Amino acid sequence: MGQMMDQPLLISSIIQHADRHFGDNEIVSRRVEGDIHRYTYHDCHTRSRQLANALGTLGVKMGDRVATLAWNGYRHLEAYYGVSGSGAVLHTVNPRLHPEQIAYIVNHAEDQYLMFDMTFLPVVEAFAAHCTTVKGFIALCDRDRMPADSKIPNLLCYEELIAAASTDYEWPLFDENSASSLCYTSGTTGNPKGALYSHRSTILHSFASTMPDSLNVSGRDSVLPVVPMFHVNAWGLPYSVPLTGAKMVFPGPALDGKSLYELFEQEQVTFSAGVPTVWLGLLNYVADNNLTFSSFKRTVIGGSACPPAMMKTLRHRYGIEVVHAWGMTEMSPLGTSCTLQSKHMGLSEDDKQAKLEKQGHAIYGVDIKIVDDAGLELPWDGKTYGNLLVKGPWIISSYYKQEGGSVLEDGWFPTGDVATIDGDGYMQITDRSKDVIKSGGEWIGTIDLENIAMAHPAVLQAACIGVFHPKWDERPLLIVVKRASFDVTREELLAFYEGKIAKWWTPDDVAFVDALPIGATGKFLKNKMREQFKEYKLPTA
Ligand code: ADP
Repeated sequence: MGQMMDQPLLISSIIQHADRHFGDNEIVSRRVEGDIHRYTYHDCHTRSRQLANALGTLGVKMGDRVATLAWNGYRHLEAYYGVSGSGAVLHTVNPRLHPEQIAYIVNHAEDQYLMFDMTFLPVVEAFAAHCTTVKGFIALCDRDRMPADSKIPNLLCYEELIAAASTDYEWPLFDENSASSLCYTSGTTGNPKGALYSHRSTILHSFASTMPDSLNVSGRDSVLPVVPMFHVNAWGLPYSVPLTGAKMVFPGPALDGKSLYELFEQEQVTFSAGVPTVWLGLLNYVADNNLTFSSFKRTVIGGSACPPAMMKTLRHRYGIEVVHAWGMTEMSPLGTSCTLQSKHMGLSEDDKQAKLEKQGHAIYGVDIKIVDDAGLELPWDGKTYGNLLVKGPWIISSYYKQEGGSVLEDGWFPTGDVATIDGDGYMQITDRSKDVIKSGGEWIGTIDLENIAMAHPAVLQAACIGVFHPKWDERPLLIVVKRASFDVTREELLAFYEGKIAKWWTPDDVAFVDALPIGATGKFLKNKMREQFKEYKLPTA
């Protein structure tokens, strides 16, 4: 037996560490109230303990679920530590879901309390009556901002609860495998399912995600998580940032280009993370107003494929390093990140760029492989594509309440993504298996087709789906939103594919639309598009 201290890996240890060693470092939040709020890790730790006390007084016990419906902000961070640290389970609910779906999730999780930002008062009013287990709804505001005559039963005021609670609180010690937080997948097919993280999985993921070839967070950073705290725990940043003592900057509800840009500059943000759709707004604002970034150095983009054109704009025009990362709710979420190694330094700029466009190498702790439909492992040659499987200590073993039964295949989790892995171990997503276009028995990956279209100057957004073809079963249809004041024809766009891709991969047609449907986590909803273009007649049919 080793002779080292046996200390459980608990989430409370992060905020304790941040307070004790970086206590006066700042957490800055743009609030729902409209102003900018500033306080320190010491303050956050104090109020998290008060929240833990308040929850105890309300009767919340070890393992009970407490839900949040909130933006990225300091009160939400207090819930991350106050709820999980006390042994209860933090259930971050995505407020962009339909109220009926929210009620389903809250009932399924059997949430005892639900904390919400005032922005979501109408949403809460719409579903509160359908919640069967919630004993009280906690409005994240001061008494004077509480609604005068709300229909919400047992409405409590967060600041009042905090003010009445003692700061005297010892974080309890318990088994590190205890549940800490709960996130539901967006459930594009069927009901959403819950991924139930543990203290151990969260701490290991936090360690791994701060590493230089992962998110690379350090005490010298000022970090603005654009990815919401209700989307896979903002990719773990609410844990990994305090762990390093870095400055934390929360954007609250203001995710438009102008508000984000102002905050980036005011708070001298060095590092940020988000899905590609949010960067579009910010980059458009910066370009339209001829601005530059004075401190922004690095960003992690994931959640869906980062279009190479966006990566190039960020790198070459603004000097911002883009780290492409891949993961999923079921993986806490980090699986791979794309950074180069010494042996790649001699590559040409184009070869480096091609490598950086992949989703990257596995982060230590995660193993990856690709298999065929019979489960046989496929070669790492950068060409052969197969079903992507993963394993590791922060990857799901079964869904909450065993929904869907056993999910593992021989100890590996099937991600539902189709990918290649090259000789250096760099993985590239071809598609989600349900989005792959099956043309005459062959597969066409939509991400490549979209990336090419997005590189055309007149294209703002592009998505590719398979539509019915009498001879080939399915053929690609490119759906495009044009950039304001630009024009482009179907023929010009199709010609743009020449020489960039195998001829038979070229879309059969282009449909121009005003907007693409975007889901609750900022991703294009291909199932909606397939529904919308169900009857579409291709000119080649
Ligand atoms: P949901 O399934 O709820 O949309 P997740 O956020 O868990 O939520 O999404 C995980 C999926 O997102 C992955 O399985 C993959 O299909 C896609 N994804 C994530 N990151 C990337 C990326 N960098 N490139 C391509 N696809 C990605």
